[in-house]
Amino acid sequence: MLELRSVTKKYGRKTAVQDMTIECQTNEFVVIFGPAGAGKSTTLNLIAGITEPTVGGVYVNGHLMNGVPPEHRNMSMVFENYALYSHLSVFDNLAFPLRARRLSQTDIQHKVREIAEILQITQLLERRPGFLSGGQRQRVALGRALIRDADVYLLDEPISHLDAKLRHRMRGELKALCQRKQATVVHVTHDYREAMSLSQRIVVLNKGHVMQFGTPQEVYHTPANEFVASFVGEPPMSFLDAHFVAEPTPGHLVVTGTEAQPVHVILSESAAQILRERPLPKLLRIGVRATDVSIRTTPQDEHNSPAEVYVVETLGHRDIVTVKVGLHLVKVAAPSGMGLNVKDTVWLNLTPRTYHLFGDEAAIAHPVRDAHVPEGV
Ligand code: ADP
Ligand code: MG
Repeated sequence: MLELRSVTKKYGRKTAVQDMTIECQTNEFVVIFGPAGAGKSTTLNLIAGITEPTVGGVYVNGHLMNGVPPEHRNMSMVFENYALYSHLSVFDNLAFPLRARRLSQTDIQHKVREIAEILQITQLLERRPGFLSGGQRQRVALGRALIRDADVYLLDEPISHLDAKLRHRMRGELKALCQRKQATVVHVTHDYREAMSLSQRIVVLNKGHVMQFGTPQEVYHTPANEFVASFVGEPPMSFLDAHFVAEPTPGHLVVTGTEAQPVHVILSESAAQILRERPLPKLLRIGVRATDVSIRTTPQDEHNSPAEVYVVETLGHRDIVTVKVGLHLVKVAAPSGMGLNVKDTVWLNLTPRTYHLFGDEAAIAHPVRDAHVPEGV
């Protein structure tokens, strides 16, 4: 098991990682997901021992690793900048970690061929890194890290430079390859699809802070705060400013910017209770995923909010319809062929079943789902 306990890393006055506590199981594939500058590479470097924490400890199977040099941690890392040996061929780059461990010539031949085939670089084995494309170099770096056995594999954006098709394929190969290893894998990416498809659990990182650490399902369905919600999902979640009115329509939210024609949104009983009891957050935000809401051309009940069609994007199997509610734009996944035109009035089902509610710092409510209804029905 790999643990970071209250780890903070400062570079001068700049805090790259702030009070991070995570634990990763042996055999677990954990993805660190966040925007550029979030502290992802710093976290990997801290685990690898390339840099030491300012405060806190890195533990492997309960043993404190602080002060243990990288070569004694039995970890294998892919660096963001590849760092291949430019004077060695691809074959020798791949063989390097095995030679350092004194494997037999036959074993080395076998393992290099095997990994080269998986990564589709067999035809490049005699070349030097200088004669490879960025994507090819990245695959060699990945191969060099995965070719040997280690307790922990640390992969810093290892497939980000591949073209879309190859990246998709490599995602599958990487997952299959890592599942065969008795090891912890910590994989860094800023790509949401990669994070979701590879990970058993995701650390969502922003400005050095862990925003959420959970399974892909948890991060998607119950985002801890607005940052996580906005950063996970495609198309991105839409947000509406709102304020809570206890009276005269108890338990309703009013979407702001619509004083002339207020849009009332009903709250679940539990969310209304929370808002009545807590000091009210400065700002309430309604968060809506395109696939959770729907629109109709006639109102069905009091929970339908009026909206105006702003733009329609066709995806083939369905449309993404952007509608205007008050001052806010909301994206809705709709069946194609609804025949909508810009400025048409439609009705949006903003109900406790279809939206998230966020306060200043944390989520207040998530869509209320029927436990027995499978996802996507
Ligand atoms: P990410 O990999 O998520 O893009 P990094 O871990 O590289 O982010 O960087 C996190 C923050 O720490 C950034 O603001 C970066 O500028 C800063 N940082 C990283 N390494 C150093 C360093 N060696 N010296 C000073 N600042 C650094
Ligand atoms: Mg980085």
